[in-house]
Amino acid sequence: MDFLKGFAIGFDLKTGLSKEAKSTKRLLSQMKGMYTDEAAFSILTAASDPLVYEFHELGTPEDAGDVAAGTSIVYPGKVGSEYFMTKGHFHTITDTAEPYLCLAGEGYMLTENAAGDWAAHRLTPGAMVYVPKGYAHRSINTGTEPLVTFFAFRADAGHDYGTIEEKGFRKLIVDERGSPAIVDNQKW
Ligand code: MN
Repeated sequence: MDFLKGFAIGFDLKTGLSKEAKSTKRLLSQMKGMYTDEAAFSILTAASDPLVYEFHELGTPEDAGDVAAGTSIVYPGKVGSEYFMTKGHFHTITDTAEPYLCLAGEGYMLTENAAGDWAAHRLTPGAMVYVPKGYAHRSINTGTEPLVTFFAFRADAGHDYGTIEEKGFRKLIVDERGSPAIVDNQKW
């Protein structure tokens, strides 16, 4: 892809997949410590180690003025009562906002900042969530189909996963008798 001259590539809007974009896959075993129910985590990883999410991005050079963009696909599933989700991250350049447009599926975008302000924005096809500057973000699939979103952000922003890997987000989204519920994360 020629980032100096421009290009066009294809994405499937239903699945979020692209043969031409650069793909990254996250298996459940790569998310150790991120789900509350460690027994359920161990059983699932030993049995099938499911693909939890993947993203397809342009592979934009991390330069000021360039824009990173692509799709994120979170598959349906649960670890215990907790729905499949992305690891979530802050940007290394913390003051970086990021819009997400939901293309398919249903779920939530969970956001929180260092001061503890948080929100859970509903994702359904056509909904655009604006993740503001300074907020960590994680998408969660509460449905039965893949949750597909399109994202874009400044390409030099970087990703900081470490802060989230320690304790996670302040809130969890769990299945309570068949419906999603937002509950406190006991690690906080
Ligand atoms: Mn981001």
